[in-house]
Amino acid sequence: MSRISVLGLGAMGAALAATLIRKGHSVTVWNRTAARAEPLASAGATIAATPAEAVAASDLTILCVVDYAAAGAVVAEAQDALRGRDLVNLTNGTPREAKKLAAWAEEKGAAYLDGGIMAIPPMIGEAGALILYSGTDALFERHKPSLDALAESRYLGDDTGLAALYDLALLSGMYGLFSGFLHAGALVASSGRRVGDFLPLLLPWIEAMSGTLPDLADKIDNGLHDRSVVSSLAMQAIALENIAKASTEQGVAPDFIEPMLRLAARRIAEGHGSGDISGVIEVIRRKK
Ligand code: NDP
Repeated sequence: MSRISVLGLGAMGAALAATLIRKGHSVTVWNRTAARAEPLASAGATIAATPAEAVAASDLTILCVVDYAAAGAVVAEAQDALRGRDLVNLTNGTPREAKKLAAWAEEKGAAYLDGGIMAIPPMIGEAGALILYSGTDALFERHKPSLDALAESRYLGDDTGLAALYDLALLSGMYGLFSGFLHAGALVASSGRRVGDFLPLLLPWIEAMSGTLPDLADKIDNGLHDRSVVSSLAMQAIALENIAKASTEQGVAPDFIEPMLRLAARRIAEGHGSGDISGVIEVIRRKK
């Protein structure tokens, strides 16, 4: 059993605290709006009056608030208690924000580990939940058994920004899927059909197309966009153009597909129309 403090009891922080209590840890909690701590107190948590009191109560403090502005405000209130403590920040943010907070916490004498939660609150403590970590490896090793109570723990390395970068990259993949689904749904709905009835076609299609990703990743990693091309970018750009055109004809906003069409057009204009769609990453990689 470890002594763990949780700062921030929104949907996610409350799920983290409740899981740690359920798994037998001694949990201290703090939240800006104190009333949100009460259900956790009923479940066995100790309520701290201030962030500093919470940090002082445990060897390990987990911070999970809405964004880095809030995270900065909370840890600033706890700064005098941080020396010699371990701080794990699971607030979603950018790699730069993570590194800045790590430097600040280390200056105050705390060890810092950053994390990205790849789960929604009901998944915490259940199979399928994953939390990515990066930063101080000794902290990760010290508390891995406690962190494993929350989710599968994956340590990415001592570059503090990596967990945030991988978290956002995974979310980018997810939002690409959601955006494509919403656009596909709008096209289907424009015919008066139900989106739910379209899913038996869409789901296996997405699964089949996911199967092409290892080949695309290999082409990207080795810079071989012209190797064994089955579907050229020039051909695929016509499909993209047709999606945009059909959207307008059907009264559907083409806004989702147009950026991809523009990226493909730039790659083709640079002479790579016969290459694979993997080559579009070379345009994306370059800051405009
Ligand atoms: P909520 O909106 O449910 O809770 C926000 C929390 O931040 C509350 O505890 C709130 O306190 C606190 N907060 C906001 N502003 C301040 C401030 N200025 N000072 C102190 N505390 C503040 O968010 P979630 O719990 O869902 O999300 C927390 C983090 O977890 C986010 O970074 C999110 O991206 C991440 N996450 C969430 C997931 C989800 O599905 N919910 C999934 C994966 C990651 P108060 O109660 O006083 O308002």
